Amino acid sequence: MRRKLVVGNWKMHGSLAQNKQLLDALIRKLEPLTQADFAVCVPYPYLFQTQAALQNTRIGWGAQNIAKHQVGAYTGEVSATMLKDFGSQYVIVGHSERSTAYCESDANIAAKFASAQCSGITPVLCVGETLHERESGLRERVIAAQLDAILDIVGAKAFATAVVSYEPVWAIGTGFSASPDQAQSAHAFIRQRIALLDESAAESVRILYGGSVNPSNASQLFVMPDIDGGLVGRCSLNANDFEAICRAAC
Ligand code: PEP
Repeated sequence: MRRKLVVGNWKMHGSLAQNKQLLDALIRKLEPLTQADFAVCVPYPYLFQTQAALQNTRIGWGAQNIAKHQVGAYTGEVSATMLKDFGSQYVIVGHSERSTAYCESDANIAAKFASAQCSGITPVLCVGETLHERESGLRERVIAAQLDAILDIVGAKAFATAVVSYEPVWAIGTGFSASPDQAQSAHAFIRQRIALLDESAAESVRILYGGSVNPSNASQLFVMPDIDGGLVGRCSLNANDFEAICRAAC
């Protein structure tokens, strides 16, 4: 039985003062909820603050990207070992907001996935189709290509301890979530794709849904058999909304 997981993606939001309020509220609201796992992925400069606030709580933390290299002359980059230094348990890799803006290749994303696991950090691998791809009937082909690129490099076993997030690009930050049935069929497809190579990894991997999850749609999404929680952007910045979404996972 997979435990549900809800991860907040703060994106490029926050300040020391705002984070303090949010983190204090999250500790108050989420600590009593023991039936699921929760985490926040914060901008790098706030990792220390987040670690200081959340250590000794059940809430995990992490970042939104990492370098594919562990150390070296890579100006502006942050490695998985550095994230580990700050106690991070999770890192998002392949988020469409990055892969589009910075033209990240599948090979880069696979290297980041591997680098995270090498340092004992759980990668949260984002996959999902654009509106145009969906309307052209290419959803499964696109997701298969994104997954296969990673599976070919890291192998299916690596997915047993990883997290995949199905994030239809058209649903991210738009207020238009995929319906529970649409999301479930994509999640089932992802699980089957991994099962073709390793059934036990497919059974263990947690597949989150991301794309305009909010307090009103979370429970209908999370009740679906292959949806193991959510990756939440906008609503993770509001403690009451994030709490409501986390409660829906319990
Ligand atoms: C995201 O940032 O991954 C995301 C799903 O954002 P939102 O919840 O705002 O759509």
